[in-house]
Amino acid sequence: MLVSLLVAMALPTIGVTVAALQARWQLQQRANEAANASITMLDQMLANADTSNNAVMQLAGRPCDGEARQMLQLQVATVPFVRSVNLIEHDHLYCTSLLGSTDQEVPAGSYIGGRLRMRAGNLTTPGVPIIIVRQVRNDRGVLSVIDGRYVQRALQFASDYSEVYLIIDSLYMDKLGKVRTIPLPPLPQARASITSAHYPYAVVAGSPDGSVLRYLLAYDLALLTLIGGVGIIGGGICYRLLGRAASPRALLQVALDAGQFEPFVQPIVDAATGQWSGVEVLMRWHLPGEGLIRPDLFIPMAERTGLILPMTRDLMRRVADALLPHVADLPPRFHIGINISAAHCRDPRLLDDCHHFLAAFPPDSIELWLELTERELIEPTEQTDLLFQQLEASGVKVAIDDFGIGHASLNYLQRFKVDALKIDQSFVKRIGADTLSAHLLDTLTELATKLEIDLVAEGVETAEQRDYLRTLGVRYLQGYYFGRPMPIGEFIHAHRHHRNTTTED
Ligand code: C2E
Ligand code: CA
Ligand code: CA
Repeated sequence: MLVSLLVAMALPTIGVTVAALQARWQLQQRANEAANASITMLDQMLANADTSNNAVMQLAGRPCDGEARQMLQLQVATVPFVRSVNLIEHDHLYCTSLLGSTDQEVPAGSYIGGRLRMRAGNLTTPGVPIIIVRQVRNDRGVLSVIDGRYVQRALQFASDYSEVYLIIDSLYMDKLGKVRTIPLPPLPQARASITSAHYPYAVVAGSPDGSVLRYLLAYDLALLTLIGGVGIIGGGICYRLLGRAASPRALLQVALDAGQFEPFVQPIVDAATGQWSGVEVLMRWHLPGEGLIRPDLFIPMAERTGLILPMTRDLMRRVADALLPHVADLPPRFHIGINISAAHCRDPRLLDDCHHFLAAFPPDSIELWLELTERELIEPTEQTDLLFQQLEASGVKVAIDDFGIGHASLNYLQRFKVDALKIDQSFVKRIGADTLSAHLLDTLTELATKLEIDLVAEGVETAEQRDYLRTLGVRYLQGYYFGRPMPIGEFIHAHRHHRNTTTED
């Protein structure tokens, strides 16, 4: 859970960081472009003012007569951006294109570098900022005035997320055309500052705090949503993967879905004839990369998690599918033993599972044997009584597995109408070794004969054991001596071979 949460948070954090860096980079690009474009346009305007200054320079110091005014007005009319052109002498303005003769003091010191000045307004248009370009030769000169509204247009290259300021001396103009005294408002994000190469002014562009976030939200909302989604999905996948590995149930479920539980079969031999009269189905887990896993390692887990039911059902289906095409080659009433857990016995669906299995084969071609281990006997209740009656009616046989090491009473064997007892391997192993087990085996055979119950001996590994059990009258034998558990395909071949060799005998 913690790892998944971390993944769910780490992915968007990385994504948002990258997106924010990219947004900041884009804002920076835009600020650079805006400042450059403003400088180009402003330089152009100021150069125009210089053009008109040059054109009338020879009038400076001459009287402000009709001819002079006409020349000044000609500049205003023909040079773009220039609003008025004025003549000065000894820091006094004495002739304007607009009003003609006048006398106003225009001190040289108020012009930065003696060339440039910005004002928030003047006498003619108090609310409209102006920029004045000054040119003086021998105390006589010309002032050309540019309307601030043109200048404002040169500051329009800013985006919605940035500001552009024109700075001349101690004043600055913003993109709304307002002129104020520095300091500038702070522009901590994506700042670009460019000084003109031709005139004493600078342009500063940049964004106030929070602009990157606003930009991200406005332009990259889809991206942010995607990033969030990726985080949630990534976390989810992580949780699933880790969760699967963590829970045994999920692990088994994955294996079941992937068809990794395979039926192996081991021959059960008729002791009298040596014929292979049936098989016990033993489950194997074919885990990729791990090979075959023994059932004692995973059956207990399957029983605890309840998955043993679907696993057994799947196993029975696979056995039926694999054996059906070869059923004609097998002896009639061929036994197929299936190991059934106690939990399965308490489940009413067991009967359905058995019916399905039997229905897959032609009538009387096979016999279904359910092997219930003596180690965990099911408690006799009305419900189980009924189940066993129904199983009997359906022709399903019941065998008690690992008999001799548990505590099945005579009463129990009778009540459930058990058809066979599978003698536990430990007794077979001790044949010839001690007299006690020989005595136990004798008693067992006697009991079975009395109750008319068949006996199967498990774990037969030697000819000596086989002979001993055969003389005792044990009807069926099973063990490595006859054949190990094997895949069904292999069993079909082995059975064909075995049948041919026994008929030749
Ligand atoms: P089991 O039902 O007593 O099965 C007999 C076990 O003895 C099998 O072990 C078999 O391979 C082994 N065996 C057979 N002949 C010999 C022999 O001559 N010598 C020796 N030493 N061993 C022999 P396996 O296949 O490892 O199965 C172990 C147990 O797992 C089974 O014991 C059974 O209790 C359980 N099991 C296997 N498949 C299933 C299944 O599909 N469902 C359930 N519920 N349990 C299963
Ligand atoms: Ca068994
Ligand atoms: Ca057994």
